Amino acid sequence: MKMRINPIITLLFLICCLRVNAQTLQNEEEVILDCNYSFEEAISGKEIPKEITRNLVLLNVEYYSFDDKLHRGQIVLHKRAEKDIKEIFEIIKEIKFPISKVIPVVKYHWSDEASMNDNNTSAFNYRKVKGQKVLSFHSYGLAIDINPIQNPHIKRNLIQPSNAKYDIKAAGTILKNSRIVQEFKKRGWQWGGTWRSSKDYQHFEKKN
Ligand SMILES: [Zn+2]
Repeated sequence: MKMRINPIITLLFLICCLRVNAQTLQNEEEVILDCNYSFEEAISGKEIPKEITRNLVLLNVEYYSFDDKLHRGQIVLHKRAEKDIKEIFEIIKEIKFPISKVIPVVKYHWSDEASMNDNNTSAFNYRKVKGQKVLSFHSYGLAIDINPIQNPHIKRNLIQPSNAKYDIKAAGTILKNSRIVQEFKKRGWQWGGTWRSSKDYQHFEKKN
């Protein structure tokens, strides 16, 4: 018996295939790339001791920025902090807590000030605590600063970054009862917003 292909059925089948494809495309949200460094590039241009770099990793994270669009950035951090930050960024994305951008500080020639002024979220930066001789938790990739413009570091009359304002009603601001603070605390991180001598609202560090 000769098999005959019904042209109408064939046409219907093709239309179905096209519709499924179109739907798949719609579900895949476009992602804006904020940076795309290799690990070597992300730690270049600064003398960093080997015992520190060997513990660092480069993690891709996704977040909604203040433009309401999905972005992908990168963060350099200690491998011990990787799981926590991965999980917390998944929550940040899910609850659409806006994050301005997440770019390794190499882009700002390792200037914390330039990174903060650009409202950049970052972790690793081989540097000392401001005004002190001791290395900051950022030097090990065990601290992260989130949205510095919304969450400045305030010490007496000094606000950093200088163009920032801590407005508890502004989007992207971290508060005591924020989900983000709870999630960090749960994982053994301390929030700079609870410090006594100064308030570092952007800062979280992994104590244990
Ligand atoms: Zn910090």
